[in-house]
Amino acid sequence: MALTGIDIFKLLPKTNCQECGVPTCLAFAMKLAAGQAELSSCPHLSDDAKAALGEASAPPIRLVTMGSGDDAFKAGGELVMFRHDKTFFNPCGYALLIDDTSGASEIDGKLKQVNESHFVRVEQDLKADMVAVKCSSGKPETFVEIIEKVKAATSLPLILMSDNPEVIHAGMAVNGEAPLIYGANKDNYEKMADLAKTHKTALAVISDNGIDGLNDLVPKIEALGVKDLVLDPGYRNPKETLQSLVYMRRGALVKKIKAFGYPTIAFPVEETSDEMMETLLAGLYTCKYGSIIVVGNLKPQYALPLYVLRQNIYTDPQRPMQVKQGIYPIGTPNENSPVLVTTNFSLTYFIVTGEVEGSRVPAWMLIQDVEGLSVMTAWAAGKFVPEKIAPFIKGSGIEEKVKHRKLVIPGYLSQMSGELDDELEGWKVEVGPREAADLPAFLKAWSA
Ligand code: SF4
Repeated sequence: MALTGIDIFKLLPKTNCQECGVPTCLAFAMKLAAGQAELSSCPHLSDDAKAALGEASAPPIRLVTMGSGDDAFKAGGELVMFRHDKTFFNPCGYALLIDDTSGASEIDGKLKQVNESHFVRVEQDLKADMVAVKCSSGKPETFVEIIEKVKAATSLPLILMSDNPEVIHAGMAVNGEAPLIYGANKDNYEKMADLAKTHKTALAVISDNGIDGLNDLVPKIEALGVKDLVLDPGYRNPKETLQSLVYMRRGALVKKIKAFGYPTIAFPVEETSDEMMETLLAGLYTCKYGSIIVVGNLKPQYALPLYVLRQNIYTDPQRPMQVKQGIYPIGTPNENSPVLVTTNFSLTYFIVTGEVEGSRVPAWMLIQDVEGLSVMTAWAAGKFVPEKIAPFIKGSGIEEKVKHRKLVIPGYLSQMSGELDDELEGWKVEVGPREAADLPAFLKAWSA
């Protein structure tokens, strides 16, 4: 049975030495219980504590890291079946497939997609995570040539794809950045496991018989000493792939089947040749329960919806999405442009700034941190009230950017305009429209 944070804490040295990278032993115990820390991070555990904590504290789905540095990609480490039970911790990764038999212009085009399909939304970078290089040529020298080309264009982690250990061996010689080896099947697993151990890298396990095949093959590879695995049930049709992904997640978390306690990989690129269908399947496996999703295109029109879906699935449902407190210029505002204030709930921010942009009236948006609450909720909670708004405006730096002193507040807060007038010395408070959709007309009249 899983131990609680308090159970774990009782077995720790309680010296708060911080060598595990966490401020206290109690905080470390809580992280360990949540599957967000490794037992080996504490160097001061007694042998008895190690024995007691070892199995019990292992996360039900192993966290596997591929690549290194800022571009390292982490997969797995999940603790719940459903996002609303707690949260999902490690967003799935999208890998773009490059075949070593493709022509130079096609490969260049794909590398361009990897580097250009990059967006910023709610202050998060939305981008590709890996590049999968597949050896269809059967020639190690061709495979190596394409790996070198990919490495020159991107520092993202790679998936090296071949069922021939000699080809993978050649690829590893030029890669060296902890790629995912794809992969081990029932015929080659001993040699592939050897490569993974030698290069200290993750290994994909490919079944020829769905989850039954994995249940058979994974323990054999574990017995060879490879710890970082990624599971492919081997199907190439959406129905069986989805069933397998759901079963493996449930098997690991609910039924505690150790062989399924690893991240997964899915291949929409090999299930359809239609780009739109591929994106839909990638979305399906984003929701349930792909850890790495290999696609054949990441053109911006397909990549952005996937990235946004992933962002929504992998945000903590108990914490509203927020934007940072600060001054946001919309358009190119100047010292005469209107100044509006609202809260840092991301939905509020997007709706209001969208309407301000649409008005084509350059403006200054002041976004106040109210822990991600909407305007009325923050007001009711006492977080977006005159005595809090006034010091925020005064300290924001907006007085150096405009020469007027007029502040537009949301129409729903008209009842506090007089009080805010009193609190905000030197400023005149104006009440904006109740609905964001009415902002364009309001701003045009304001600046006329
Ligand atoms: S390294 Fe061990 S003893 Fe030190 S703070 Fe972390 S858990 Fe406690």
